[in-house]
Amino acid sequence: MSSAYISAELRQQVAERAYFVCEYCLIHTDDTHFGCQIDHIISEKHGGLTEPENLAYACAFCNRFKGSDVGSIDWESGEFVRFYNPRIDRWRDHFELSGIRIIPASGIGRVTVRLLQINHIDRLIERQELAESKRFLTPEAIAYLTGRAQG
Ligand SMILES: [Zn+2]
Repeated sequence: MSSAYISAELRQQVAERAYFVCEYCLIHTDDTHFGCQIDHIISEKHGGLTEPENLAYACAFCNRFKGSDVGSIDWESGEFVRFYNPRIDRWRDHFELSGIRIIPASGIGRVTVRLLQINHIDRLIERQELAESKRFLTPEAIAYLTGRAQG
């Protein structure tokens, strides 16, 4: 969620850093209806700043379901766990792909997949259609997973 002014330059920087794919569910912005958006990793409500280290590129679904939350209860441990943070975490440490499903590989992965509804049936249907047209994963998503953005 964002309400702060974010310059076109900063938006472009965040998008390019993410190779134009959602940093949570890996969909390419060109394959989304609404385009990807700029997400405050720590929401402004919780004091997160509008600076590159606190911004992520996120599709409208991930961004909307995440809202101003910063984490959730991980029901496996019973403890509060923060969401995946693309600036300090590596995607492959917290998620794995099983076909079109994004499977959590950690507590961080579990709360992120659940709260952002990453495997919602509508999103699986969309991902399946993309997979059939060779758009999931895109080359950009593969570059993102192996590229500089992921350290
Ligand atoms: Zn997404």
